[in-house]
Parts: sequence; C-alpha cells; structure tokens
Amino acid sequence: MNRWSTRSPGRPVQDILTARRNGQRSRIHNHYLKSTVYCIECGRRLIIQNTRSKSGRVYQYFICSRRQGDDCLQRKALPVADVEKRVEDAYRTITLTEQQRQGIEDIALAKLRRQHALHAQRREELENETRKIDSRREKLLELYYEDVLPRESLLKHQRKLNSETTRIQQELAAVQIDDNALEQKLRIALDLLQHSVDHYLQADEATREQLNRALFKRILLGPQPDQIWIELNDVYDELINAPTPHTKPKTG
Ligand SMILES: [Zn+2]
Repeated sequence: MNRWSTRSPGRPVQDILTARRNGQRSRIHNHYLKSTVYCIECGRRLIIQNTRSKSGRVYQYFICSRRQGDDCLQRKALPVADVEKRVEDAYRTITLTEQQRQGIEDIALAKLRRQHALHAQRREELENETRKIDSRREKLLELYYEDVLPRESLLKHQRKLNSETTRIQQELAAVQIDDNALEQKLRIALDLLQHSVDHYLQADEATREQLNRALFKRILLGPQPDQIWIELNDVYDELINAPTPHTKPKTG
C-alpha cells in the first residue's frame, strides 16, 4: 500500500463540479424568500420550481425540497405570488401597535435594568476580590523578601493567585456590558417590529430577504390559507411573547 492510498483523488474534482452545478441552479432558481419558507408537513425548505406552459410562459412555484424516496405529505406546488402575499400577511400579524410596543418596551426595559443592577453589583464584588488578591500578592512578596517565605512557596501561592485572577477577569468580561448599547438595541428591535409591515412592503427584494432573516427563523407553509406557522428569531419571540399588562392578546 503506498502512502497516498488514503487520498481520494476524485473527490476535489467532484466537489468543484457539485459547486458549479449548485451555483448555476441557484442563479436560475433564486428567490428572496428561499431561506425563509419551509414545508409545514416535513420542515424541509421550500424550493423554486419553474414550470413552462405550452405557450412557453414560465410559472414559478415553491415545492417541498424532499428528494425522491423522502416522506412528505405535501405534494402541492405553491404559486410564488401566493407565498409572497402570505409572507406579507405574516408581517401584519407581528406588527405592533403603539400601545403594544410601549407595553413591551416598559417591561423589557425594567428587565434590562434589573439585570444591569445585578451586573453592577457583581462587578463591585469582583473588583473587591481583585483588590484582596493584589494585597495578598504584596504581602507574599514582603514575606519572601524578609526571608520568611521560601521561594518555592512564593511561586506556589503566586500560581494559585494567578489562576484566581484569570477566573475573575473572565467573569468581569462577562458582566462588563454596555448598558446603553443594550437599551439602544432593544429600541431598534422594537422600532422594526412596530413598523415591520411598512418597512417590508416598501423594501426591494434584497432588503426583504434581510428583514426576513432578521425576524424569522422559519415560516412553515402548506397549501391551505390557515396552514402557516411562524417561528420568530429568539429576540423577537421574547419581545412579542412578553406579557403586556396594557393589552389583551388578540383572540380568534
Ligand atoms: Zn415537505
């Protein structure tokens, strides 16, 4: 057996061919919703299928990306215009009224500020610990220079203090959060939610794709109008599902 036997010489070529094929396919079948819409039956992506009519006109559909042999009950192709419209409608359901937005903002800000207070308290504790360690370091050196402490013991104690310091610095980094930046981010997120449908309807396709990626994990769709399941990204999910004392959740 020679030393190259573990290599698979055909592989890189195959990769390049596959990449080219995929590149070409995505140029033809690209759509700004492609990373947002999924099959409600099996959770796979919906992909674009072009169908040419006898007159030569091309119709675009979204179909489940199941491969042959995969199980999925969704056999229907969803017309692209329909899917686009249903995503616009999804925006209407997540858009907040001024009152809802205010309610969520109040609660979220209160939560943020409680967190800030806890962080500030922890920072103080950690800074205290750091000061104690510093004075221990000085004390050890004094003892060493007074020949009370042997060099070996000094090094041993110093190593221990060093690892303590590392732990403290790591924890400090975790609680050293820019509070203002967080509140700013929250307001930006709420602005987007409050006006999301207006933003979306006015946006070009590239911006629509970005908005979709920012807001949604997935939108799962089936052929029936009520077959829609919206999964928001975590930050928006938390905001939307925060209990709002000023408003009742919509029913029906
Ligand atoms: Zn499916």
